[in-house]
Amino acid sequence: MFKSGAVALFAAAVLSPCLAQADTFEQGMNTMWEVLWHQSGTATRLVRWDQDIKVRMFGVNLGAHKQHSMQALRDAAAEAGVKVIDVSDRPDAAQVANVSIEVVPNSSLSENQPCETRLNFKSETTIDSVTMQMRDSDAYRCAYHESMHVMGVRGHPEGSTVLSYFTKHVDSLEPLDKAMLRAWYSPRTKPGMTPFEVLPILADELVGISPDKQLAKLERDQYLQHTVADMQAFADGRGDVPMIVKACGKATPDGIRYGRMEMSYFLGVAYQQGSSVAKDPGAASIWLERAANMGSSSAKTRLLAAGGAQLAGNR
Ligand SMILES: [Zn+2]
Repeated sequence: MFKSGAVALFAAAVLSPCLAQADTFEQGMNTMWEVLWHQSGTATRLVRWDQDIKVRMFGVNLGAHKQHSMQALRDAAAEAGVKVIDVSDRPDAAQVANVSIEVVPNSSLSENQPCETRLNFKSETTIDSVTMQMRDSDAYRCAYHESMHVMGVRGHPEGSTVLSYFTKHVDSLEPLDKAMLRAWYSPRTKPGMTPFEVLPILADELVGISPDKQLAKLERDQYLQHTVADMQAFADGRGDVPMIVKACGKATPDGIRYGRMEMSYFLGVAYQQGSSVAKDPGAASIWLERAANMGSSSAKTRLLAAGGAQLAGNR
């Protein structure tokens, strides 16, 4: 009985390598939206690699951790189409590595922060280097979660993802994680893209792994529509950041104020480009001006460019 049940489950998984039945499309979209948020209370631009990863792994008890940690990084990078080269044994490893993974003693870091990944980039577009630290006792459960961060996926959404705060799955990536990585590194995606430019690409990957694609497309469009409306309220000072950002307890009044300014800019870009919403130059100007008045230099630059283009067009 148990055996046939297990076989049936396995067969179902093979036939339909997609979202588990319990995950609705809406839940999947929430995960895709939340992953674009920083814990401080602002949505983020997309950052990613544009070169091979040269990884150096070092630290304590390496024999126990190296294989699993490297596998996690290789799995995430493979989904993204990024090559991973292990340079740990080279004499000049510290100089040539652009990703360093250090296993630190259990007395290092803190209970709340058992593992830590820092992305270094000059502008919020392309990753230059990454440093990851994991405590000896936590390295195994951290490896997949931190590998997602290494690839540039920084958020901590809820749902069936290794990025969730409460994840139990540490031996492989989840279908949602793979969909995120494919969207992140899709030819449609450009480094530095704003959240409303990235969200439809994430949504399309989710449609791709949904059992009922027609229904998923309808739900995708509804989701984009209500998210733009929700974010207009947020940018306007009425709405709120996603619940999961609230729940992590790291959002600050300054972070949220900055988040509202950024969101005004992102809405301006969305209306200007017709991303996640229909093109509307009037709405684009309103949101860009609002962002510029709140101090957004990106909005000022974009308004100047739009003004210049208009002038050129009038000549
Ligand atoms: Zn994390």
